[in-house]
Amino acid sequence: MSKRSIVTNEIRQCMELLFPISRSLTGIGNRKTLKILQDIVPLKIKEYPSGQEVYDWVIPKEWNIKDGWIKNSQGEKIVDFKKSNLHVVGYSQPVKGKLTFKELVPHLHYKENLPCAVPYRTSYYNDYWGFCVSYDDFKKYFREGEKYEVFIDSNLEDGSLSLGELLIPGKKNDEFLISTYICHPSLANDNLSGIVLTTFLAKKMLEMKLNYSYRIVFVPETIGAVAYCKNNEDAMKKVMAGIIISCVGGPGIFSLKPSFEEKSFVDIAARKVLTASKQEFKEYEFVPQGSDERQYSSPGFRIPCITICRDKYCEYDYYHTSLDNLDFVKAENIFKSIEMHMRLIKEIDSLKFYERTESRCELQLGKRGLYPKIGALNRIDHEKKPWRSNELDALYWVLFYADGKTSVDQMIERSQMNKKQILDAIKKLEEKKLLQKK
Ligand code: ZN
Repeated sequence: MSKRSIVTNEIRQCMELLFPISRSLTGIGNRKTLKILQDIVPLKIKEYPSGQEVYDWVIPKEWNIKDGWIKNSQGEKIVDFKKSNLHVVGYSQPVKGKLTFKELVPHLHYKENLPCAVPYRTSYYNDYWGFCVSYDDFKKYFREGEKYEVFIDSNLEDGSLSLGELLIPGKKNDEFLISTYICHPSLANDNLSGIVLTTFLAKKMLEMKLNYSYRIVFVPETIGAVAYCKNNEDAMKKVMAGIIISCVGGPGIFSLKPSFEEKSFVDIAARKVLTASKQEFKEYEFVPQGSDERQYSSPGFRIPCITICRDKYCEYDYYHTSLDNLDFVKAENIFKSIEMHMRLIKEIDSLKFYERTESRCELQLGKRGLYPKIGALNRIDHEKKPWRSNELDALYWVLFYADGKTSVDQMIERSQMNKKQILDAIKKLEEKKLLQKK
């Protein structure tokens, strides 16, 4: 068997093992998921207690569920959590009782435009309980005049929020973040695919000699990322850029959600590997909504984060429904996404950043023979390429961006000069000891 098919089989087995587990913001399903991942990579499981204040949020009570069903008046189970964990609204309070159709309807959720699918719904920060059914089943089993028995065996009590962390040290202390979310139950693309990709990507990275260091986290979306930032604030403030791993297993083409900067070095690196793959890809615009870049890119952290998807959240028909299952998501597609992310990691890991040996104010180029002997500029000619044509222009662009945070590709893109001109300028400035690699 080829190495590719061995890995693809491992991915498939991992998907099948993890798919049925009930995950949420908290609970034993999340812990069980992380423990299974520990068989593949040595991640640390961290627990943050319920009630902990994390910036504007509070870590909620731990939610666990054993069972949930609705029976009709003949005592037949017409909705059963044991058949799919999507049938109970996430974070439902326990309930037991008999209800009329009218009383039950506010607690039923279905999706009319995808009648065979059970929708995924949550009610995290409200006192509520509910069930999700397909619209077909809603029409078949629920009607005026009928009585129903409902039961949800869940509990909400003080516990903790679990997350996984893996730090892979490189030669340099400068860090990149890779973050995925673990809070969705049986949904394959969103986001079991992300969990599995991140795990197998981390496994490969552990075998590599890396230049930079990588902080890989598996968190429940939003509250987990907020809690992680709060509990690791100093480290997170130093992170240079991030990759959010979400929805990477669908059959669609690759797509990029750029960072808020849109032209940060990680954006440029992502576009470079997507373009080099010669596969069609789509680029979305940056919007503040999305996944955990909402936390990491917030003003207090401002980490530029990109996401490369295959069938991005909110964009595919089966999104947040029972049809986002293992028929929709194939191990082969996740394998291809791992390859794409691996190329991105290699690209990021090879990035070079330069800083000036004297960063304050302009350097005096004349005394080093880098400035024309006769000064004062001519009126510029807008027909030509002003400010970006000759050796001196290249020196100025490089010196301006040699702040230790701007990659060489970014210098090329921002200056709109060609690669050779920028590289020559870097070389010249290094020779004059005005520039050094960070
Ligand atoms: Zn989602």
